[in-house]
Amino acid sequence: NKQVILRDYVSGFPKESDMNIVDSTITLKLPQGSNELLLKKLYLSCDPYMRILMTKDTTAGLGAHTPGSLLNVEKLQPLIGYGVSKVLESGHQDYTKGDLVWGITKWEEYSLVPATGMCKIEHTDVPLSYYTGILAMPGLTAYAGFFEVGTPKKGENVFVSAASGAFGQLVGQFAKLTGCYVVGSAGSKEKVDLLKNKFGYDEAINYKEEQDLDAALKRYFQEGIDIYFENVGGKTLDAVLPNMRVHGRIHVCGMISQYNLSQPEGVTNLAHIIYKRIRMQGFITPDYYHFYTKFLEFILPLIREGKIVYVEDIAEGLENGPAALVGLFSGRNVGKQVVFVAHE
Ligand code: NDP
Repeated sequence: NKQVILRDYVSGFPKESDMNIVDSTITLKLPQGSNELLLKKLYLSCDPYMRILMTKDTTAGLGAHTPGSLLNVEKLQPLIGYGVSKVLESGHQDYTKGDLVWGITKWEEYSLVPATGMCKIEHTDVPLSYYTGILAMPGLTAYAGFFEVGTPKKGENVFVSAASGAFGQLVGQFAKLTGCYVVGSAGSKEKVDLLKNKFGYDEAINYKEEQDLDAALKRYFQEGIDIYFENVGGKTLDAVLPNMRVHGRIHVCGMISQYNLSQPEGVTNLAHIIYKRIRMQGFITPDYYHFYTKFLEFILPLIREGKIVYVEDIAEGLENGPAALVGLFSGRNVGKQVVFVAHE
């Protein structure tokens, strides 16, 4: 059973050498009376939060703040993350051999997991890998974070950072479906082209080439920003704040630019929250699991009709998982980063 284990706790930017590929053995049989599932991994999801769980500081981990959520990875133990699996053996009445599921498992070829943590995949007319992204945690959270955290309205001005990634590409398309004017920022020419030509963004900013992000925002938002979907934090947030409109809303999904810093960057423009009466709200996935059925009813027809597109960046093989995960922090991924582990 090939595994990706945490070789040592991460500080600073994660490196491939923080992880190791090892072989272990697993009994391919469920214990008698077990409520568990024996899973074969098909796809694994690379997500920026996984870096936060790879530190020794358990107060920084998501589990420290979120009851029932993810816990830090122990040194020399397999990484933990979302993925798509096939049920090889089931000890639970709701699952049978051959079922497809998505949910949190370890980064290994085979796992024994409690059945209660898994979500059965009912719709297989769409790519199975979508259950790491658009049809799983990122899709659900992007949907809830855009539509439920605020009340986006037709004609509003929306700005999205990390706009070509797993979340950003969806938020831009949701904003266009709502009738908003939407601008995204991303870190390469290829990504900027995708934003405008594939995801329907009205304008796109290559933040690595813009000398002055404030000036770029003023160029595209002459009347200010109504909604900022925040994926990045730091300098980007600082440039956005003075460009918000009165009563603007900031939906805080993530702050990837801060995860690898020992000291978070200072944000100097916070006082604009007062002058502009800005509402800034964070949100996390577990708050919205109960929305999943409603979300699928919304998104599946849009995918089938080609009204929503989804770009994935698929690394081949578990052994390429560490490089794929680390690549999120340099922007190597173009679209949702997935690791292909095995065919059904
Ligand atoms: P992406 O697929 O967008 O991948 C990460 C991207 O972030 C990179 O491709 C890179 O794109 C960009 N990036 C990396 N470092 C920096 C930096 N220093 N400054 C600016 N951009 C940077 O990731 P996701 O869509 O999966 O995640 C987006 C955000 O959502 C993250 O902040 C994540 O932590 C958060 N999140 C929040 C959840 C919640 O429950 N609230 C759940 C899961 C994720 P580029 O080339 O454009 O720089």
